[in-house]
Amino acid sequence: MAKYVYSFNEGNKDMRYVLGGKGANLAEMTKIGLPVPFGFTVTCQACNKYYEDGKVVSDDLVSEIMAKLEELEAVSGKKFGDPDNPLLVSVRSGAPFSMPGMMDTILNLGLNDDSVLGVAKLTNNERFAYDSYRRFIQMYSDIVLEIKKDKFDKIFDGKKAERGVEFDVELTAEDLKEIIEDYKKLVVAEIGKGFPEDPKDQLMEAVLAVFRSWNTERAVLYRELNNIDSTLGTAVNVQEMVFGNMGDDSGTGVAFTRSPSTGEKKVFGEFLVNAQGEDVVAGIRTPQPIAEMEQTFPEVYKEFTKIAELLENHYKNMQDMEFTVERGKLYMLQTRDGKRTAQAAVKVAVDMVDEGLITKETAVSRIEPDQIGQLLHPKFSDADLAANEAVAKGLPASPGAASGQIFFTAETAKAAVEDGKKVVLVRAETSPEDLAGMVVAEGILTERGGMTSHAAVVARGMGKCCVAGCSAIKIDEEAGTMTVAGNILKEGDIISIDGSSGCVYLGELEMVAPDLSNDFAQIMKWADEIRRLKVRTNADTPADAAQAVKFGAEGIGLCRTEHMFFGEDRIKAMRRMILADEESERREALALLLPYQKSDFKGIFEAMEDRPVTIRLIDPPLHEFVPHTDEEIQVLADEFGLDFTKLKHRVSELKEFNPMLGHRGCRLTITYPEIAEMQAEAIIMAAIELKKEKGLEVVPEIMIPLVGNVKELAYVKKYVVETIEKVFEREGEKVDYIVGTMIEIPRAALTADEIAKEADFFSFGTNDLTQMTLGFSRDDTGRIIKEYVEKGVFEEDPFQSLDQTGVGQLVQIAVEKGRKVNPYLKLGICGEHGGDPSSIDFCHRVGLDYVSCSPFRVPIARLAAAQAVVRENSNAEADK
Ligand code: PEP
Ligand code: MG
Repeated sequence: MAKYVYSFNEGNKDMRYVLGGKGANLAEMTKIGLPVPFGFTVTCQACNKYYEDGKVVSDDLVSEIMAKLEELEAVSGKKFGDPDNPLLVSVRSGAPFSMPGMMDTILNLGLNDDSVLGVAKLTNNERFAYDSYRRFIQMYSDIVLEIKKDKFDKIFDGKKAERGVEFDVELTAEDLKEIIEDYKKLVVAEIGKGFPEDPKDQLMEAVLAVFRSWNTERAVLYRELNNIDSTLGTAVNVQEMVFGNMGDDSGTGVAFTRSPSTGEKKVFGEFLVNAQGEDVVAGIRTPQPIAEMEQTFPEVYKEFTKIAELLENHYKNMQDMEFTVERGKLYMLQTRDGKRTAQAAVKVAVDMVDEGLITKETAVSRIEPDQIGQLLHPKFSDADLAANEAVAKGLPASPGAASGQIFFTAETAKAAVEDGKKVVLVRAETSPEDLAGMVVAEGILTERGGMTSHAAVVARGMGKCCVAGCSAIKIDEEAGTMTVAGNILKEGDIISIDGSSGCVYLGELEMVAPDLSNDFAQIMKWADEIRRLKVRTNADTPADAAQAVKFGAEGIGLCRTEHMFFGEDRIKAMRRMILADEESERREALALLLPYQKSDFKGIFEAMEDRPVTIRLIDPPLHEFVPHTDEEIQVLADEFGLDFTKLKHRVSELKEFNPMLGHRGCRLTITYPEIAEMQAEAIIMAAIELKKEKGLEVVPEIMIPLVGNVKELAYVKKYVVETIEKVFEREGEKVDYIVGTMIEIPRAALTADEIAKEADFFSFGTNDLTQMTLGFSRDDTGRIIKEYVEKGVFEEDPFQSLDQTGVGQLVQIAVEKGRKVNPYLKLGICGEHGGDPSSIDFCHRVGLDYVSCSPFRVPIARLAAAQAVVRENSNAEADK
């Protein structure tokens, strides 16, 4: 029979798919002898079985849980519901991957009218016992019985008002007993039966509630956002309670072994005296920094820092821990690899290599490639920071900068973003219900909560700027205002927040590109040492090319020449060329374009120095260039002395129903070879002039687009080569060059062996290849694909992440067929997928020579290419 329940001393850290992350780590900490309250874990498979069986719990599972409960009673020496020595437990969810704040937790389970007496006796604190009991009823009713929390708050606040007291602690044990009676009446009124008194019933219902919480709307959304498999299920951890709220010698806290924000090597976290764990995480009370614990509890602090170090060395990773101190004794309640900002991830990885804890391969594989994007994100300019005084300062919860209009609820924020506005979400504190608003906001500002509050943790995970616990702001949600430093801001007013300093500014501040740290350079250096794939960039201007070189680009994989025709003078000449009736007219217009092209190419070659540059011959969907309005046609007619009616007729002749599949790419140069001639001349002249003027040896790679048949390639190539030969003769100077093609039409991939005979290189144009293989128009399908992804029909947008099974197969076929004919064929990719980490992994596996992507994604691609090697090696290791 399958085993569905494990005691903490039966598992280990490698069992996360069985025990969930939390359960596996509780088992591991138990195994290595740390002070962990005993308990057991109901497995993820039990949760899945519950769903498979139509949301029913089998008798076998009930008996297994009951047997483990007996064991727990024996170990703790306490009994469920015992009026003398009662066992109380916490019930917590724990999926294989952490889903912070997404699932529900129940504390103090086991309390009833009998056991509360036991707690009162044992603690000699009746007030504490009844306060725990009323908290339990409220929490359990909320999570298990689904009775809204505010109904209980009303009773509680009503009692405070009746007694004329301001603070919760001023209520006496007798007041709390009355509150409990009222709570119970509320439960009967709400669900038609009494609050469950039998702790075993409480336990089974709580386990079920955790199973159910796997499929709440917010859990489903979180999984979608974080690509977590929805079939994993959650485990349930049942653990003997320890109390951080037993007085001033007790407390609770959360801490990281290093700063999750900067990566600094120092125990970093927060601590609350006389409080229960949820008070810290929920951000309801603002806790004190962990360092202050050294004064409050010196012995415990010493033990805790020792354990922190031990855990970090044991897991060889930065840990995020939860603990409780009960009457001076420390208990560890959780440890897991800590989530961290990109900046912290990079610093921690580099430091750990220096400390000899991990290898550089591990360091490189620890950084999420997409996180690198965060480091490259803009921050506020120094000038604007100097010129603007902060109106408030909160905690620097997640670095970065954001400016936008303020909105006070997730709904209004979302609506504003749909209206095209940039939004900063401002909340008293956030909860999982705010997730949708946080996703769309530029940044998040909260009035309450610490560095480990929901807002801080979630924003960091998203790589989004966040200032938390900014008590200098006062939000009046109802009035739709926020008061700060004497200013009353309304919904829609603009503020700027700096997640690295915690500062809040009025108005919009200028953003600039960030400086990259030495640690970042070190990670990139290691990535470069490890990776096999080269990384090029897609760039059409010298400025983009220079930016990409700064980010480590090793060449240009795609220069889209049609993008060079958008300047005011150029577009006119371009239109004139497209609309010309006769070849001679076309040549006249082309003669106007030639100098522009040549100087553009010279600029790009110079920026790239001796790096390879692939220049693609013109590939415009024609509709992007023809004039649309009568005014535009008139301007053209006037400029070139043409007849308006004739010109208008020509425009209508050129209209295409499906321009993406129309007269573009090599089709255009087959119709008008003089365009290819002009471009070939401009490219080669640029190279010759640089050779003569600066001694720069450029080897242009001339790329012919949208080829589906080798004859198309041969046809255009002939004009290119003949033109170049003529230029060599005329100039009395030669340069090396190569001619290749895009593989972006399925037929080209399937006949790659024929095409390879005419090509020195292939560059996979996976944008068009995806469009034509899937039959989804690149330009029209955004909405459809979004819906597909939402409905789970597609896992990902195939225009963002390569469809490896379909389109990938064509790439693979082309690689094999091409290399068979020409083993030296250079192979690259220049579709958008060239900057997508999982597509890069694919490119590595199929043996491409390089990927090419936009400048800002170059560092991401360098890292992803290195990770592909590390992954390949560890898979090979596993296969041995
Ligand atoms: C492609 O199709 O993948 C490509 C890079 O070309 P373009 O996006 O310019 O069509
Ligand atoms: Mg294309």
